Amino acid sequence: MAAAAAALRSLVGLVLAADCAGCEQRAAERAGLCSRCEQDLGARARSAWPSPVPPGLAPPWAVATYDGTVKAVLLAHKEQSRLVLVRPLGAALARAVTVAAVGRAGPVLLVPVPSQPAAVRRRGHDHTLRLARVAAARLRRAGHPVGVLAVLRTTRRVADQAGLGAAERSANLAGALQVPARFAGLCAGRRVVVVDDVITTGATLAEATRALAAAGADVVGAAVVAATARRRASAPGLSTDGPGD
Ligand SMILES: [Zn+2]
Repeated sequence: MAAAAAALRSLVGLVLAADCAGCEQRAAERAGLCSRCEQDLGARARSAWPSPVPPGLAPPWAVATYDGTVKAVLLAHKEQSRLVLVRPLGAALARAVTVAAVGRAGPVLLVPVPSQPAAVRRRGHDHTLRLARVAAARLRRAGHPVGVLAVLRTTRRVADQAGLGAAERSANLAGALQVPARFAGLCAGRRVVVVDDVITTGATLAEATRALAAAGADVVGAAVVAATARRRASAPGLSTDGPGD
């Protein structure tokens, strides 16, 4: 018993001593974040239409802007495998899902946007799938019939999206996602929300929406944790410095 208590104290000490993943200036209090950075993920979901809007994009909802604390936390989860961060990030995603599917009776399925398989192997985890699972579990605990349906697959490698404009991203991604035939029966007639960590130009979410609709799904919205700041960056030459996938 004493040994267990000591082990628990040392574990708590380790957690308390860890730097906050959002600001690295304060000690993390809960789930890898200080209370101030946790607040940055606590906003209400808002509409996050990019400009220009890629054809076919389902109405997108985001909780935060992809910069500062929120960008650091998303990257720490995705690239540094600070897996404890899935809790606050999944909670934020759950709020975006709630708004995306608001007013819809009946079950909703969250379909995560897949990463390239090589990226998942390199990172050791599928960050978007993890976020979707935590968000769905939170919503189920709140009484909402929400599940996860990881049926999207990449059809080929795509060029790194970073540095590409909206039109280039759409061309780069056309046909890049699909629901394999063996999964089509799971989608047909089901109400789904596409989920991802970040929306930049919306090209990825539009391609996901197209692939799901082709499999017969009713895509009612798209939910993400964060949207890049330049939502009106439609002028040629403005950078879209979002993540690669
Ligand atoms: Zn912090």
